[in-house]
Order: sequence, then structure tokens, then C-alpha cells
Amino acid sequence: MLLASPQDYLYQMKAQTRSEAKKRWKDAIKDKWNNVCAYCGENHDQMTLDHIHPQVLGGTNETTNVICCCEDCNREKGHKNWEDWYIKQFFFTEDRYDRIKEWQRVKSEGPKKRLVRGSKGCKTRIVITNGR
Ligand SMILES: [Zn+2]
Repeated sequence: MLLASPQDYLYQMKAQTRSEAKKRWKDAIKDKWNNVCAYCGENHDQMTLDHIHPQVLGGTNETTNVICCCEDCNREKGHKNWEDWYIKQFFFTEDRYDRIKEWQRVKSEGPKKRLVRGSKGCKTRIVITNGR
């Protein structure tokens, strides 16, 4: 199950500890990418996770900002803007580019929260919905 961030695995009782939550989250992301690098399409034994928008530049540690990536691409990309970097690579494809753009809007699985505004007699409250 792919949730929106490592913390969500704790909140939704899918993991007992922070490290377990992080592992579940990482595994779920790699799984969604079939263990293939989002940039070059290669598969290696040791896949890493890449923050599309680097954390040092304010990128978040949420699913929409994190993709499966090989060590080479991860190191090469560094803290560069991913689009500027990616378009110059010999392995660039529009398909994979589109897939990354789509990922940035990915809807994670699991419950969603929605604010229900109160009206006569009912308080405003947060409800859990399962709509995707
Ligand atoms: Zn790669």
C-alpha cells in the first residue's frame, strides 16, 4: 500500500516504529516503479530513492516528491533541477518524463481526510473518506 508519507504508515497503524514506517514507504514506492529507475529505466540490485525536488532546496519528504532511482542517476542529478538535468541525458524519453510529472500528482492509497463544514446543529468536522 502506498501512502502519502512515511508518517502515514504510523498514523494508519501500518507500522509500529518510525524505521518500519520508512521502510514500508520506501518499498511501496520502489514497488510502484517496478524497481526501475524513473529517469533511465535501468534496473539494478540496489535501487535508491530520489527526491525530485531536492530536500535542501525545500522539497518535501512526501510520496509525490520521491521516486525510484538508480545510484548513478541519483549521484549525477545531485541538487540540479530535475527537468533541466533530465532533458540533457542520452536516456531521456518523453514517456518517462510524463510519468514523473504524473507521479508528482499521484494519489496515494488509503483513507483520505475531508473537511465537512457544519450547518445547523452540526459541527464542522474531519471525516475519513475512501474515495480516490
Ligand atoms: Zn537511472
